[in-house]
Amino acid sequence: MTSDRTPHTFPQFTSVDDERRHRKQRLAAAFRLFGHFGFDEGAAGHITARDPELLDHFWVNPLAMNFKQIRVKDLILVNHTGEVVEGNWPVNTAAFVIHSQIHAARPDVVSAAHAHSVHGKAWSSLRRALDPLTQDSCAFYADHAVFDDYTGVVIDIEESKRIAHALGDYKAAILANHGLLTVGHTVDEAAWWFITMERTCQAQLLAEAAGKPVLIDKDQASKTAGQVGNHIAGWFSFQPLYDWVVAQQPDLLDE
Ligand SMILES: [Zn+2]
Repeated sequence: MTSDRTPHTFPQFTSVDDERRHRKQRLAAAFRLFGHFGFDEGAAGHITARDPELLDHFWVNPLAMNFKQIRVKDLILVNHTGEVVEGNWPVNTAAFVIHSQIHAARPDVVSAAHAHSVHGKAWSSLRRALDPLTQDSCAFYADHAVFDDYTGVVIDIEESKRIAHALGDYKAAILANHGLLTVGHTVDEAAWWFITMERTCQAQLLAEAAGKPVLIDKDQASKTAGQVGNHIAGWFSFQPLYDWVVAQQPDLLDE
């Protein structure tokens, strides 16, 4: 017997419509997974996908729609001034403010993810970078920032510019007393970095509560970062999660 499934290959597109559909499908699936993992907290949290044609527009979740119920057809398109140009729900102001500045500052970034997941926000209150404690944590070795300033809910473009500046060229930022933020060249990648970063915070909190963890040395952490922390590795790690959530909740693809 051989499997009737085929191995994952990185997608190529022949039309912008196909690429847009693909990004929206991945985005809806990422929300279902964030809901599944319990990353939602009321109306907080957002994941964006840059439109492949209108490069200063992005797709995002409708304000206060439950992550676990989002379908492709529910996603809204927001322009660079924060106006909803497709869809009939409002956008979360913080989603627009934070993500618009990241998409503007980082042309390489297709997707950005932010949510108030429990271990991420607990870790963020320590205002420390994550240490290379495990193989998985090396994805963030020398590749994440700590934005160590908290001044309330982000509704000010100037503050989000400072967040984008702190993020720099990294894949992630810890927003002090708030939560995690990750970016990627694909929706898959941004979502995966968020999921594994949340678990990395959990692992470090557990390890430090239990004793004095031994760090992976710099050379090995650097080498491992190149193996588990590259763009394709991030994309690839999302594929089993995507397959599972689409099989379990096929309505997420409704358009
Ligand atoms: Zn937030």
